[in-house]
Amino acid sequence: MSPSGLTSRPASIVEAPAADCGLCPRLSAFREGNRARHPTFHNAPVPSFGSLDAWLLIVGLAPGLKGANQTGRPFTGDFAGDLLYDTLLTFGLAEGSYGRSSDDGLRLVGCRITNAVRCVPPENKPVGAEIKTCGQYLKADIAAMANLRVILSLGLISHGAVLSARGLAKSARRFGHGAVHQLPGKLTLVDSYHCSRYNTNTRRLTPEMFAAVFSEIKALADIK
Ligand code: SF4
Repeated sequence: MSPSGLTSRPASIVEAPAADCGLCPRLSAFREGNRARHPTFHNAPVPSFGSLDAWLLIVGLAPGLKGANQTGRPFTGDFAGDLLYDTLLTFGLAEGSYGRSSDDGLRLVGCRITNAVRCVPPENKPVGAEIKTCGQYLKADIAAMANLRVILSLGLISHGAVLSARGLAKSARRFGHGAVHQLPGKLTLVDSYHCSRYNTNTRRLTPEMFAAVFSEIKALADIK
């Protein structure tokens, strides 16, 4: 492993954190505890899912303890994934069927999914230093996607992490559900409320609102 915590990979593969990445002491300590409490879980940084050739990158917050941290695939295993993958299937951005498991055979079409923070945080709340530290992996993912045209940020923290990864100020581009931001490099950033159980239970985000965001994204793809 390099001093930065990056594993050595061929140039064609984006660099990813090692399974025992220790750059965030609080998260690596939580990981160790989870390995004892839940020995069958993934309990490691969750890698991005989908091809680097994709035109759309979906960026969430962080793995859920009994979602991605359990299954090892972003948004897989908990409620947020139910809504996200159902929506991707509806819009032709995934093929197969979603089975809450990383071996369900689901295939993404033209999109890739990652998280701003790759390790599960206590109470689903990463702190600023962890978001900043893990941002190097988000930056590497974005840089490796030659065909990337649209980034969908799920929530305020994702929005900020994407802007930081691109070296852009947050003050000029405020988060708002459905907001569309033009970024340098022919890249468009689209915001949505996160598809968490809390947001859907409180009707802050309805499936219809989420679908409308994907309609906008598909329209953006068509005119590019
Ligand atoms: S959150 Fe990212 S930087 Fe922090 S320990 Fe996990 S993989 Fe490493």
